[in-house]
Amino acid sequence: MPGGLSVSRGRAIVLGAGIIGAACAWRLAQRGFDVIVIERESAPATGSTGRSAAGVRHQFSEEVNVRLSMASIDEYRQMPQAAYRAQGYLFAVPGDAWNAHREAARMQRALGAPVETITPAEAARRVPMTLDGLGGATWCPSDGVVDPHGICLEYVARARALGARFVFGEAVEHLERRDGLWRARGSSARFEAPLVVNAAGPWAGELARSASLIVPVSPARRIVFTTAPLPEDLRACAPYPWTIDLASGVYLRSEGERLIFGCSNPADTGFEEGIDWLWLEEVYTRALTRFPWFERLAIDRRACWWGYYEMTPDANPVLGRMPGAPGWINACGFSGHGVQQAGAVGRVIAEEACGEAAFIDIDALRIERFSHRAEDRSNRERLVI
Ligand SMILES: Cc1cc2nc3c(=O)[nH]c(=O)nc-3n(C[C@H](O)[C@H](O)[C@H](O)COP(=O)(O)OP(=O)(O)OC[C@H]3O[C@@H](n4cnc5c(N)ncnc54)[C@H](O)[C@@H]3O)c2cc1C
Repeated sequence: MPGGLSVSRGRAIVLGAGIIGAACAWRLAQRGFDVIVIERESAPATGSTGRSAAGVRHQFSEEVNVRLSMASIDEYRQMPQAAYRAQGYLFAVPGDAWNAHREAARMQRALGAPVETITPAEAARRVPMTLDGLGGATWCPSDGVVDPHGICLEYVARARALGARFVFGEAVEHLERRDGLWRARGSSARFEAPLVVNAAGPWAGELARSASLIVPVSPARRIVFTTAPLPEDLRACAPYPWTIDLASGVYLRSEGERLIFGCSNPADTGFEEGIDWLWLEEVYTRALTRFPWFERLAIDRRACWWGYYEMTPDANPVLGRMPGAPGWINACGFSGHGVQQAGAVGRVIAEEACGEAAFIDIDALRIERFSHRAEDRSNRERLVI
């Protein structure tokens, strides 16, 4: 018992019990791995997963992201705990971005997503909006909303049923590989396994550093604002689909009788905490340019929330084995899309662990891309909200 701490040994350690860690644990356990999931908090889904706005969509600019979301949504459709609702995503696209967006819609359709290109006027019939500067819009009726807690807890239950051990309230402080094993030192115990899956969400970069590895994942605070119940006449359009104005960056959707809405602040990086109420002024101002009826909405301050995106330099996830670090697998950097990709990610990570070709080619998402294409950002995911 080195250092006086108890030692648990398994065949795979999963760092983090968010939706990604839980999905990986289940899929690894299905493959016969003896899995230990280590989570700092006292329950699953308390990191980004519990702060998500719960959107799932097929509309991405990068093909691999469409594939990951599509396979995950297919899985969630079969899972009652996911409570999948096809509420649709409507993108309103400015003229200068329309050609590239329409191309992406073609790619999404070719992959089987029912994405329609529509005119700005048609978009405004779904959700009232001004048409200034818009080149077109896209609508996908099978995009929608899920219950991230429900999915995460279901993956935990499935993993446990196959023997996976979940250790809560244990913060991993340091990791090192010695004699063919990864050794994780936690706050009150030690863990050993030949395989480690880094599913620590916004903390994935930090945890990698504790193992002397560089994984370019950094936190960025994102705030979701919530209105009071809508005035009677504005309820006529409800449920409002996910509606994204790519000109201003403002998004909105129905949540019961209310709307949730927001807009990413690119300057909001690092582990900032709490709600930035000054940013609300900026979001309101931008929202009014496209949705003038916003001036009639009241905010419910107690129902607003915040959490961290886990950003990478090109807004794509980092998946797969780490060069130079045998047994280390990354499953992180989802850049705000991890809920809608977890189902597929659990599968590809288990395939990677077993040395098999993944059912979705993840080569474009391997960490090596950052050294190969330091200056090339052509594969950057453009549809980050
Ligand atoms: C406001 C907001 C809105 C979002 N909206 C959407 C959306 O609409 N659709 C979508 O798909 N995604 C959305 N996301 C992103 C999504 O929530 C994340 O991509 C996803 O939850 C990532 O899951 P995860 O399991 O990787 O991370 P997390 O859920 O953060 O899990 C990581 C876990 O690791 C644990 N951990 C960290 N460090 C340690 C340590 N040292 N020791 C032990 N445990 C540790 C943490 O406690 C945490 O529980 C949103 C995120 C935010 C913040």
